[in-house]
Amino acid sequence: MQAASYLADVLRQYDANGIHIGSGLPKATCPCGLCQKVRKFEATPSATPADAASEADKRDATRYRWLRDSDRLPEEIDGEIVVGTAGGEDVLFDSALDKAIDAAIQRERQQGEVRA
Ligand SMILES: [Zn+2]
Repeated sequence: MQAASYLADVLRQYDANGIHIGSGLPKATCPCGLCQKVRKFEATPSATPADAASEADKRDATRYRWLRDSDRLPEEIDGEIVVGTAGGEDVLFDSALDKAIDAAIQRERQQGEVRA
């Protein structure tokens, strides 16, 4: 059964005051299995903006770990995504890339350009 139609079927079991029509008892106190299920569902916290931000952070962390991993690259790196410094021959990976990024963030924070 589709989730939406199941939900509609469940909602039809209650009147506008939250009375379970089948038992005549309020949803909050009715001992039947359906009301127990509905109470449990309603007590389950739904996703919050903080959860969404945390998920976004996890995706960013995954992207970053992929980016910094030199093992993913074939010997011939033409056409691959690499990270390097703008003005020289250096191509940075792993902890050297971490240090370069951390140092750049630190410099920008000291100049007040990045909010911590
Ligand atoms: Zn009930």
